[in-house]
Amino acid sequence: MPLLYHWVGKNYRRDLDWGAGYHLNQSNPLLHEISLGDSLWAFTRTTTGRYVLATELVVRAKTRNPRGFRYGPYRVWGDLKRSRYFRTKGQPDISELIRRLSVKASAAVIGRSFQGQAAVRRLTPADHHLLLDYARYLPLESRARLLPEEELEARIHLGDPDAISRLITTEAPGIAEERRRYLFEQVPRRNPHVQELRMLYEGMCQLCEWNPKSLYRRDLCEAHHIHWLSRGGDDALHNMVLICPNHHRAIHRTDAPFDWADTSFVFPRNREPVKISRHALQAK
Ligand SMILES: [Zn+2]
Ligand SMILES: [Zn+2]
Repeated sequence: MPLLYHWVGKNYRRDLDWGAGYHLNQSNPLLHEISLGDSLWAFTRTTTGRYVLATELVVRAKTRNPRGFRYGPYRVWGDLKRSRYFRTKGQPDISELIRRLSVKASAAVIGRSFQGQAAVRRLTPADHHLLLDYARYLPLESRARLLPEEELEARIHLGDPDAISRLITTEAPGIAEERRRYLFEQVPRRNPHVQELRMLYEGMCQLCEWNPKSLYRRDLCEAHHIHWLSRGGDDALHNMVLICPNHHRAIHRTDAPFDWADTSFVFPRNREPVKISRHALQAK
């Protein structure tokens, strides 16, 4: 069952400014009734007051946020290959298109019909096809292109600001200026987090307890950013875990999201919980 989602304008803009997250949150449990593979269509309001289509997230995972999370307990994640962010600049107002769907939206200003829990609605297959038709020729938003996370993390761990700036300038012409500044200027300076984590966990993988320090007298575990740097995450201890290279590759290659319900990574066939926890994690 596809869903329609009203994305508050300022939240939508922050998402793009900080690195497209490819996920959406809600306090209404209806969000989790969507099936994997179904589309979550999100519309938003531009600064000039037009309602426009923002994204089609083709859902690949559903997770919970920590208790008290400000955007609600439910989160869905879009498949990175199949989901799309549409360019909102130059897009016509879609209020009339929304009124043609089966959802109730009678307020004069359409967003008023989608406040609070009503921000997320069920769509019929016919609604879904109407939106697909509309979206067929919409240009995509270039700022939603993601930096290669593994390379970004690796270069940050080396503490090499030149390598990071090269990656950002060569890879991401679309990345927002604000995010570019954060990754380029702020992150390299705060790199010692990796060392802090290694001290805290004596070099062990927080997921499988592999202990390279005792086996090989070497620090081989790596820091991973739960909320990816390329998707708006902070380079801060509360967003990082220490894991072995195998787990790190597996998380990146499968784009495994973190579920706060049981503090686990969600892999395609299983969940793996954080087994050793000696520092507080925080959701974003
Ligand atoms: Zn491991
Ligand atoms: Zn990582």
